[in-house]
Amino acid sequence: MKNIYGVTRLELEEFLISNEFKKFNASQIYEWIYQKKIENFDLMSNLSLNLREILKQNYTFNKLEVIDHLSDKMADKFLFRLSDNEKIEAVLMHHDYGYSLCISTQVGCNMGCAFCESGRLKKVRNLEKEEMVLQILEVEEILNLKITHVVLMGIGEPFDNYDNVIGFIDIINDPKSIALGSRHITVSTSGLIPAIKKFTEYDKQVNLAISLHAPNDELRSKLMPINKAYPLSELMPVLKEYIKKTNRRLTFEYIMLYGVNDTEECAKELAKLVRGMNAYINLIPYNETSHIEFKKSTQERIMKFYDILKKENVCVTIRKEFGSKLKAACGQLRSIYEEG
Ligand code: SAH
Ligand code: SF4
Repeated sequence: MKNIYGVTRLELEEFLISNEFKKFNASQIYEWIYQKKIENFDLMSNLSLNLREILKQNYTFNKLEVIDHLSDKMADKFLFRLSDNEKIEAVLMHHDYGYSLCISTQVGCNMGCAFCESGRLKKVRNLEKEEMVLQILEVEEILNLKITHVVLMGIGEPFDNYDNVIGFIDIINDPKSIALGSRHITVSTSGLIPAIKKFTEYDKQVNLAISLHAPNDELRSKLMPINKAYPLSELMPVLKEYIKKTNRRLTFEYIMLYGVNDTEECAKELAKLVRGMNAYINLIPYNETSHIEFKKSTQERIMKFYDILKKENVCVTIRKEFGSKLKAACGQLRSIYEEG
């Protein structure tokens, strides 16, 4: 039995055709599930009884279990339990332009970034498509609201789970499902070059964010082991190619770590690194965790860094802090539960 929330419309059409039903039944089924929020094939009254029976024999409507929900004015944080008892989290941010959900893509992460809670908890497995789709559907249902933006910045490295992530995007972007616009979806990666190359050929206008965090290989390799396999000297040309081919603007994420990567020299080196690219830099206040030694930059150091980039004509923004009180950074809620 497969979970129906993880089936792309194309996969559903193939299933229908191979069982001698009509391709357009897939649109009808999608409308029942995603627009009318029906969780029972028996209630899909415009499908033949025969088809309902076959669907019942092949697909389940299993959901994720919500085991914790913290909330304040700016954010809601959810901890989910998966069918094999693993835990993942999602964070809803309340923006003036809408609701943005940060979802997990794996249980844990193998990239081992020095500053990150998710990397401290090694990857157990990839998330299935339905486990990503259901983070959205269940948050919408619990809070009775419509999520307008989705960012793949929770636990995990999306490009280490490439096929499921693309299938997931195909599902949520489908006009017959929740129809989340591709420009409202952002994938964040630590820089897996082969996947970035594949993504360059992907036909949807999904946003790409690169976790940069350092302006040179020496420092980046210390913070992010992935940089040893895919150093900046190889990554930057691939990103330039991505921008050229897709005509899209790239985001660089840069966490501000006190005394580590927030110096004036780093700012100048960073400006040089991204010069001439259609990209902007998002400076992220570091969310301190009890397990990891890094400290967050002071407001003054962040402003100084920002000013240097501005003077060098680099597009730069400072990310608003969300839910740090809710332990909202990557993996933090889950890591508390792991320790009981
Ligand atoms: N693995 C992907 C996506 C998930 S991490 C990636 O690394 O891009 C999403 C973002 O959160 C990354 O930019 C990551 O560096 C950042 N991050 C991790 N731990 C953080 C923390 N404690 N405070 C602030 N940002 C953090
Ligand atoms: Fe993984 Fe991203 Fe955390 Fe690095 S920052 S360990 S890639 S989740």
